[in-house]
Amino acid sequence: MDLYEHQARQLFEEYGILVPRAEVTDSAEEARGIARRLGGRVVVKAQVKTGGRGKAGGVRLAADPAAAELTARQILGMDIKGHRVGTVMLAQPVDIETEFYVSYVLDRAAGRFLAIASAEGGMEIEEVAAQRPEVVARVPVDPAEGVTSAKAQEIAAAAGLPPRTVDVLVRLWEVLVREDAVLVEVNPLVRTRQGRILALDGKVTLDDNAAFRQTRWGAEAETRADPLEASAVAKGLNYVGLDGEVGIIGNGAGLVMSTLDVVAGCGARPANFLDIGGGASARIMADGLSVVLADPAVKSVLVNVFGGITACDAVADGIVRALETVRLTKPLVVRLDGNNAARGRAILDARAHPLVEQATTMDGAARQAARLATAA
Ligand code: GDP
Ligand code: MN
Repeated sequence: MDLYEHQARQLFEEYGILVPRAEVTDSAEEARGIARRLGGRVVVKAQVKTGGRGKAGGVRLAADPAAAELTARQILGMDIKGHRVGTVMLAQPVDIETEFYVSYVLDRAAGRFLAIASAEGGMEIEEVAAQRPEVVARVPVDPAEGVTSAKAQEIAAAAGLPPRTVDVLVRLWEVLVREDAVLVEVNPLVRTRQGRILALDGKVTLDDNAAFRQTRWGAEAETRADPLEASAVAKGLNYVGLDGEVGIIGNGAGLVMSTLDVVAGCGARPANFLDIGGGASARIMADGLSVVLADPAVKSVLVNVFGGITACDAVADGIVRALETVRLTKPLVVRLDGNNAARGRAILDARAHPLVEQATTMDGAARQAARLATAA
C-alpha cells in the first residue's frame, strides 16, 4: 500500500528527518486558518497517491491565507491522473537552493535493496535516468547490512550529494526497515539557501505482507479494494481475483498456478486464484465456494485437489457438506486424485448433485470447466 505524502512526511519527522511544517485538511475554509498559523504564505499540495502533482497543477504557492483558501478550493475535487483530490496539505514554503533525489527500492530479482540517488532531483527520475543515466547513481544495499553511515557516505559520494545528506540517508533506511516499507522515496530532497537538508516530498510503499503489524494506516481496508478479496482475507483464504470466467479452487499454490495455465490452455480464462491450502475442511470448502460463486463473472467452477496429507475422501466430505450451506448456482467440475481418490469420488457420486460432475484428470477437468464456461 502506498502512503499519502502527508503520512510519509509524518514518518520522516518521527525519524528525525527535517520536513516543512504542514497541516492537512479537506476543507477550503479551514485552509485559510491553517495558512494563518503557518505564517501566511503556504504551498498547497493535493494529497493523491500518484506522482507528477506539480505538473498537473496540484502543487501551488499561495501568497496569503485568503489565497490559500481559494487555491485549496480549486485543488480539492481536482482529478489528477484518475485520482480525485479529497484532502490538501498546506506547508510552509521552503527557499530551495538545490533539489536532489534519493530512494530505496526493493530489488526482488536481486534479493536486495537498491539505493537510487541523484544530485538532479525534482523532476521525474525515470525521465532523468532515460536521458542522462550517468547522473543517477544506483548502489546495491544488502538488507542484512543495511545503510550504515559508511554505506550512506558511499551512496552520497556516488551521486554527488553533499555530506549533510548522509544522516538523512541513514534515517530513511530506518524508516524502510522499521515501517516495513518496500519503497521509500524523497523527491525532492532539498538544500535550502540556509544550508539545511529537508525532505519536501515523500513516497512510502508499505509491504502488504506486513499489514498485520502495521495497523496505524488502516492497510487492510485499503489494500483489499476488491470486496471479494476482502471477504476471502477475512476467512483466511488465499484468494486473488482475476478477470476470466472459470472459478478455480485448488490445494497448494503450485497446483493452483498450473491449473490456471491448463484452463487458459483450454481457451478459457481463470476468474480467480484460490488456494485452500492443506486442510480442505467443509468450512474451508464452503468459504471458498461462496467466495468464488459470489463473482458474477464466474460461469463454471473447477475444484482441482491432489490429496496428500489431506485425503480426497475428506475433501469430498467437505464439498458435500459445503453444498448444504452454499447454494450451487453454477456447474462444478471436481477432479480428485492422490490419497484416497477412489473413496472421494464415490462420496461425490453418492451425493449425485445435478450441477456437480467429476473428471479423473486435470486436463479433462480443465477442458470440461472451460467448455461449460464458454457454452454458458
Ligand atoms: P510532485 O509533482 O507530485 O512530485 O510534487 P512535489 O511535492 O515534489 O512538488 C513539485 C515541485 O514543486 C518540487 O520539485 C519543487 O520544485 C516545487 N515545490 C514544492 N514545495 C515547494 C516549496 O516549498 N518551495 C519551493 N520553492 N518549491 C516547492
Ligand atoms: Mn515530488
